[in-house]
Amino acid sequence: MSANLQNWAGHHTFSTARVHRPQTVEQLQALVSQSSKLKVLGSRHSFNDIADATGDLVSLDDLEPTFLVDRERHTVTVNGSITYGQLCQQLHADGYAIHNMASLPHITVAGAISTATHGSGDHNGNLATAVAALELVKANGDLVLLAREQNREEFEGAVVGLGAVGAITKVTLDIAPAFVMQQEVYEDLPVAQVEAHFDEITSSAYSVSLFTDWQKERVNQLWLKRHLTNGAALAVAPTLFEAIHAPAPRHPVTALPAAPCTEQMGVVGPWHERLPHFRVDHTPASGDELQTEYFVPRQHAVEAMRAVIRILSSQGPIESLLWISEVRTVAADSLWMSPSYQRDSVGIHFSWRKNWAVVQKLLPTIEEAFAPFQARPHWGKLFTMSPVHLQSLYPKLPEFRELLHAYDPQGKFRNPYVDKYIFGTEV
Ligand SMILES: Cc1cc2nc3c(=O)[nH]c(=O)nc-3n(C[C@H](O)[C@H](O)[C@H](O)COP(=O)(O)OP(=O)(O)OC[C@H]3O[C@@H](n4cnc5c(N)ncnc54)[C@H](O)[C@@H]3O)c2cc1C
Repeated sequence: MSANLQNWAGHHTFSTARVHRPQTVEQLQALVSQSSKLKVLGSRHSFNDIADATGDLVSLDDLEPTFLVDRERHTVTVNGSITYGQLCQQLHADGYAIHNMASLPHITVAGAISTATHGSGDHNGNLATAVAALELVKANGDLVLLAREQNREEFEGAVVGLGAVGAITKVTLDIAPAFVMQQEVYEDLPVAQVEAHFDEITSSAYSVSLFTDWQKERVNQLWLKRHLTNGAALAVAPTLFEAIHAPAPRHPVTALPAAPCTEQMGVVGPWHERLPHFRVDHTPASGDELQTEYFVPRQHAVEAMRAVIRILSSQGPIESLLWISEVRTVAADSLWMSPSYQRDSVGIHFSWRKNWAVVQKLLPTIEEAFAPFQARPHWGKLFTMSPVHLQSLYPKLPEFRELLHAYDPQGKFRNPYVDKYIFGTEV
């Protein structure tokens, strides 16, 4: 790998260029037991230093692929390093589906679950909630299997593990029969409608996204991804909550070409070609962006959105600050370090223009406005809140620390990010 290994957005350069590529699990076990500091890389789509290491980096891309469907238990077991793009194509060919996907299919399964990556849907937990079992190499080199049904406590602690529990070799995911969907985009949804009908809007499809630049008292685009139980197309209403059906396919940033986006206009297609916003064979964007996201309990969604409108109205021209924001819903779960732990949540996401100096100054204002809602930041995106405040948002944090001590007493898998946000004392 290159001497200047960077994340997807290119604004974070990894601290080391030493990347090991074991070809077998035994080689990985030997590497882990001999190393004093290491971190496993996913596809490097995170926006902060969560995947960085001061010692060794490890890519698991060269391990022999695994793809085992268990038709009785309704699960699939794959390598943690598989991308959702690869997984979903194979799964669909076998007649199966997973419950949800992120906006893009290019990220790895292990990397996504480690940060609680999510899609949308009132009844859809984040992607980590589909995990039924994890196989990982612990710091001492032992290979362990953690299964939801057999080791519930440790399992619930380890799944959203921030890369700090061990090197995930295999992941078993819940699957369901493949299904078809259709996707429609509506434009200019009045904020007044969102305020009056938030629950109706977010429950109007299997997965719903609101894309907004927070201007003109309207949400720019409303994306509906509808699950078709009997496979037949549903009628597309010309208007919805006063928003108007877009006359042509749209990119979330209306001015950009829609070519990278999954098919819209109500055309029926397979689940994995509708759930993500971006097509597997396209780059979702140029990388010229920084991302931030906060999860608030869903009952505070409208208040939190109103706070953002207030804050961003005093920031000058929005085009020079923000590409677009997205609002999605995520069902509550029981995974200790999940931002949706024990609460139905709404993720308020920002794709900022790539100007960290400006964004860094603005985030504390947003975090202050969201603080009364106990907003939890996305683990893989940019935030500025203090470690002590962040830790106060996670009731299971003491147990998570104990889990890390038990699995990794010398802190091999701990990096500056984990030291700061999980063990740090900065107020
Ligand atoms: C364009 C874009 C769109 C995005 N859209 C969404 C979205 O829709 N929803 C959302 O929630 N997030 C989204 N994200 C954020 C992204 O999904 C997360 O940051 C995710 O964690 C990235 O996965 P990755 O494979 O790149 O992992 P990396 O960023 O490489 O790593 C993330 C963490 O996982 C750990 N890890 C990776 N593999 C392993 C392994 N095998 N064993 C142990 N630990 C491992 C790493 O050490 C690190 O701690 C988006 C990011 C981008 C760039």
